[in-house]
Amino acid sequence: MSEAPTYSIVAPVYNEIGNLRPFTAQVRAVMDGLGEPWELLLVDDGSSDGSRELMLDLAAADPRLRVISFARNFGHQVAVTAGVDYASGRAVVLIDADLQDPPAVIPRLIEKWQEGYDVVYAVRAVRRGESWLKRLSAKLFYRLLHRITDINIPVDTGDFRLMDARVAAVLRQMREQRRFVRGMTSWAGFRQTGIEYVREERAWGETKYPLRKMIAFALDAVTSFSFFPLQIMIVMSLFLGVASLLTGLAITILRLTRGEEFFGGQATTIILLLLLSSFQLFFLFVIGQYVARGYDEARDRPLYVVASTVGLGPPRVANQRLPMAGGGEAPALAKAPGPRQTEGEQSRSAS
Ligand code: UDP
Ligand code: MG
Repeated sequence: MSEAPTYSIVAPVYNEIGNLRPFTAQVRAVMDGLGEPWELLLVDDGSSDGSRELMLDLAAADPRLRVISFARNFGHQVAVTAGVDYASGRAVVLIDADLQDPPAVIPRLIEKWQEGYDVVYAVRAVRRGESWLKRLSAKLFYRLLHRITDINIPVDTGDFRLMDARVAAVLRQMREQRRFVRGMTSWAGFRQTGIEYVREERAWGETKYPLRKMIAFALDAVTSFSFFPLQIMIVMSLFLGVASLLTGLAITILRLTRGEEFFGGQATTIILLLLLSSFQLFFLFVIGQYVARGYDEARDRPLYVVASTVGLGPPRVANQRLPMAGGGEAPALAKAPGPRQTEGEQSRSAS
């Protein structure tokens, strides 16, 4: 491996064969304009459309392009994580490979980093080519998340961002299975700021985030950073408790003063029973979400399985085991107890 680059660009790739050439060309043009060494880490998230072979070709032609190939599809957030694990730059930029996040914005992120910010996120001022449903649900969701979490996750930002090496080092210590990377970088703290940009239409192909995945992602986001759904149960319980007291009181008074049977109908009972069962099942679902995630963490499986890498040494994390049977390239890393220092962690006053 050559000397450490100043900038590491991390792009997750899942079946983006039509985007890879224009994307890498744009990144190359933009980064070459900055006059500092850089690397582009393409994380192949189990592509099946020939993207992987194309990435290997592109990397053979330009050694600054590096490839991490997963053994199967592990999902966008995990692919981004792997990129950060292997990145050696003093600043790491996360960017989508479908040209929705224009590489031309990267120098603006870098400018803020040079001013001394540790995280520079790109805020979507305009979103092109996305359905009103996606835009509306995203808007509502990020505002809700903002309200119910303690950490400051900025509204209308995706994963398109730059982070200083010391933030990347924090991220490498967060090995949780259900990952909400944009929240995790906020959680890290340090000096954070945003710049606005226009989120473009996907240059080629379809979104890999159907509604089902978006809902799962939203659940991961909430459960990763908030216990609000669990806490709200006490409010419901108090409300129902008071309601039952008042109803009991009302019925007693009515019976004593009028001497008749009130609320004697079966319909009322059935409706209430169904309503309460529905509440209870809903909250069982909520509890189940947290329990399942706890179980997920307890199993402590590796976050991803790497099939091969090009142009890279072992990942810079302690507990990401690397199955490289026969290849002999990287020995399986033992589970180390504590966080490991990385060389990117020293201060960056030179920038
Ligand atoms: N992606 C990935 N693994 C997946 C799904 C997506 O690596 O399982 C990549 C995809 O190739 C793209 C980025 O993550 O570079 C964002 O995905 P997409 O454009 O489908 O999401 P959207 O922009 O529609 O939210
Ligand atoms: Mg996209």
